[in-house]
Amino acid sequence: MNNINQVSIIGAGTMGNGIAHVFAQYGFNVALIDIDEIRLKNALKNIEKNIERQIVKEQLKDSEKASILSRIVTFNNLKDGVASSHLVIEAATENYEVKKNIFQEIDNYAPKDAILATNTSSISITKIASVTRRPAQVIGMHFMNPVPIMKLVEIIKGFATSQDTISAIIKTVTNLEKIAVEVKDYPGFTANRILLPMINEAIFSLFEGVAGVSEIDAIMKLGMAHPMGPLQLADFIGLDVCLSIMRVLQEGIGDDKYRPCPLLVNMVAAGYLGKKTGEGFYKYELNSKNFTVSKKFK
Ligand code: NAD
Repeated sequence: MNNINQVSIIGAGTMGNGIAHVFAQYGFNVALIDIDEIRLKNALKNIEKNIERQIVKEQLKDSEKASILSRIVTFNNLKDGVASSHLVIEAATENYEVKKNIFQEIDNYAPKDAILATNTSSISITKIASVTRRPAQVIGMHFMNPVPIMKLVEIIKGFATSQDTISAIIKTVTNLEKIAVEVKDYPGFTANRILLPMINEAIFSLFEGVAGVSEIDAIMKLGMAHPMGPLQLADFIGLDVCLSIMRVLQEGIGDDKYRPCPLLVNMVAAGYLGKKTGEGFYKYELNSKNFTVSKKFK
């Protein structure tokens, strides 16, 4: 793979729209793909809103908005969306079966020299790569949420990932003015192996009545200088995503210290997934920055 300038992003949810935004901002042509048309429409609206925020903060010029948006084309099927791609980044639902099907399909339709990356938070890159005929060109590109703001991209080298693939991806990350940090392919990689047990422990503290939602978040913000409390962060990540990561850690490392808190399991079963569904530990007002502790925890 020589020059990467055509990028396909699979999944237009929380992460996919942020990844599409950043690539388009830095001059890449982006194909944004989702099976859900409503998600695609909402993603474009969200990207536009976030560009406007950057303009207000004087990080972008007004004149750049139209050109950034014009570089993003949406697709509702994988075949057309990856046909001329140099780099495909999968940011679909955190579920191995979903990702396995996607990788089998894109391996058939993406150009032979294209790199296939996954934004998975925890699923083995080696396992995903093994369902393709190009495991040396499969890599983990773990962007952080919110993508336009966070500088880190955790780069995960699968067992078969080649040095050429790693070098091409590090160069691409640098072109986005982000910092690539390379790690090995073990459950949760590094970021989530450290972060998620802390979030899970915060949920256990709430579950066991040690402290309330506001108290837990205040302690970690004011006492540990975290920019956001762990329960609010869980809402931002998505409680379903948090639960999947805990299950991968528990199963992959085989230690029960990674067991997900029963309250987290219940909230996901009830559809309280956090900000994206309007309620998790907090209740979020639609189209507003306002939020209050959910009535369930008052
Ligand atoms: P999300 O639920 O917000 O979005 C997932 C999107 O994938 C949905 O729009 C869904 O319609 C789409 N999708 C599902 N199956 C598809 C298919 N077969 N083809 C095309 N689109 C499909 O999820 P998210 O939070 O954006 O997470 C996406 C990935 O990024 C996951 O692997 C997650 O672990 C990872 N991640 C999430 C965060 C976070 O903070 N949310 C941070 C880093 C990484």
